[in-house]
Amino acid sequence: MEPDRLLVFRKLLQERLSSLETSFGARIGELVDQRDVLADTADIATEESDRDLTLRMHDHERKVVDEIRAAIRRIDDGEYGVCEACGDDIGERRLLARPMATHCIDCMTELEATQRREPSLL
Ligand SMILES: [Zn+2]
Repeated sequence: MEPDRLLVFRKLLQERLSSLETSFGARIGELVDQRDVLADTADIATEESDRDLTLRMHDHERKVVDEIRAAIRRIDDGEYGVCEACGDDIGERRLLARPMATHCIDCMTELEATQRREPSLL
């Protein structure tokens, strides 16, 4: 990929990363506040399930953050935009839709089909 295109994707990824980290940090603060407020109430069950949900969201966000960081590393290593499975270009259209993509659309389709057939491999 051309260096100036790489810069565009690097900027895109960094913007996503910083907005995720901002909301991530804010929500962690909220969670701590909530715990204090709810400590006296009898509604522990609701609190627990709410917290479960929040933590799951954090897991997902953390995963996305990891994916973005890995993508930025690939830009720095000069490996960005290359399919991990077949070595073809992933293609800018796909990367614009999903800048963290590690596989071209063909390999990703194949991968997803495999995961559907054998979910235990996940
Ligand atoms: Zn591929």
